[in-house]
Amino acid sequence: MADYFQEMGWQPLSEGQAPNHLLHFARLFRDYNIFDESLTQSLAPPASKSVVENLPSITINGQGVKCPVCLKEHSEGETVKKMPCNHTFHAECILPWLAKTNSCPLCRFELATDDEDYEAFRKEKIRAKAREADIEILHNSMFS
Ligand SMILES: [Zn+2]
Ligand SMILES: [Zn+2]
Repeated sequence: MADYFQEMGWQPLSEGQAPNHLLHFARLFRDYNIFDESLTQSLAPPASKSVVENLPSITINGQGVKCPVCLKEHSEGETVKKMPCNHTFHAECILPWLAKTNSCPLCRFELATDDEDYEAFRKEKIRAKAREADIEILHNSMFS
């Protein structure tokens, strides 16, 4: 009797081939539609150094915008870092954060990382989301 792994079409690694567990799991999750935000969060590596270095600095014009990390209001004329999601942070607040993980602390917008495995994982996740959206559209068109 073929064992479970054979039935699933899993091949043993050939000599000298490194296992890619992350990618493997990404496929598994996609197939079973169990992409889970908390899981991706816990796997998320630091943001790409070059992306972080290239985050634009903007000057605060006006009042009432708070830094989501320290909750202090930005003062007029202050220079802050702006994420691609348009959230603004003190450089000293966001830079240590991005050295640990790649997403905006406020909205979880993900920056690119320098981690190849994670990037592959992220692409699978985006694909899974797109597929979910397709199914949703199909569902709506059939039942509305
Ligand atoms: Zn701050
Ligand atoms: Zn954000």
